[in-house]
Amino acid sequence: MQAAIFHGVGDIRATADIAKPEPGPGEVIVQVASCGICGSDLHIYRLDSPSALEMHSGTLRTDVDGNRIIGHEYAGVIAAVGEGVDSYAVGDRVVGVTAGGGMAEYVPVPANPFQLAKVPESVSFEEAATTEPLADALQLVRKAALQPGENVVVFGVGIIGLGVVQAIRATLPEIGEIVAVDVSPSRLEMARQVGATAVVNAAEEDVVEACGRACGVVEWEYPVMRPPRVAAVIDCAGYIKHMQGPPPLQTALHLLQPVGGRIICFGAFEDAVTLELMDLIHKQPVIEGSMGYRAEELTQALELMASGKVDRRRLISDRFPLAEVSEAFQTQGNGRAIKVMVQPVPELNE
Ligand SMILES: [Zn+2]
Repeated sequence: MQAAIFHGVGDIRATADIAKPEPGPGEVIVQVASCGICGSDLHIYRLDSPSALEMHSGTLRTDVDGNRIIGHEYAGVIAAVGEGVDSYAVGDRVVGVTAGGGMAEYVPVPANPFQLAKVPESVSFEEAATTEPLADALQLVRKAALQPGENVVVFGVGIIGLGVVQAIRATLPEIGEIVAVDVSPSRLEMARQVGATAVVNAAEEDVVEACGRACGVVEWEYPVMRPPRVAAVIDCAGYIKHMQGPPPLQTALHLLQPVGGRIICFGAFEDAVTLELMDLIHKQPVIEGSMGYRAEELTQALELMASGKVDRRRLISDRFPLAEVSEAFQTQGNGRAIKVMVQPVPELNE
């Protein structure tokens, strides 16, 4: 079969003569219609930190011949079922998550609720391939515990941050302002289209001032300060080496209103960061990290897509056949693309 093999930094190529996998006990084999390129795939592709390979090892599958096949957000049809699997059958439409090796015609997936879910008939395979980032977004929103009328700022509106905006819109109708912050004009434009009430280009504007304009400010007496009225920051940017300006986490601390504010961190930190931390004392925020979705959030994400409350189709900016996987990775890394799909078995998408 054909599969996308990771050979080293910046080198991912499609190869035709890869062994087709057999299902082990408790596994199914999925014939893959669409597989998205995720931020963690890009971390592997660039090997941008010494721990990138270990940290994101779940995105690769090493096959019987030692080939490292990339991809972990995909959807397709079950082609074979292993011993002991009784809740799935050949022909079921499914999404596979965090089981590496998805950029291939066939991939083995453990049949457990954290890695495999059935896809409702009304959800296309490429939409379904965006289930994981939407499920991650749902978890970030849940952790932020947003209350009616509160204002929230989302840092980094790639596929996760856009999912955060969509998840807030779909589940919290009485939210206040939703401010999206990024350096990519095309992503900011998309954030507006999916429900952000204000967008800030961090390369061009002072983020704290712009958020103050969008959300109003809090007049605080002890100590005297006038921060924006922002109850929560969801940080999907993390820290990218050579990023311009202060780390987003620093800006998040400057942004937050005093007492009871929340910062939820999901973007990876590619390097150590230096922070000025007096805001931690003055504002008393809760800073919480996230490793991503729980099984229930996969189901919730698929239900939101099936009901039409969340439209993921508009976030898919580019599509490539598996043979052009190198171009697909270059496109995903260019800062303009939103979600790039690789199609191992393109006709399944028709
Ligand atoms: Zn992912």
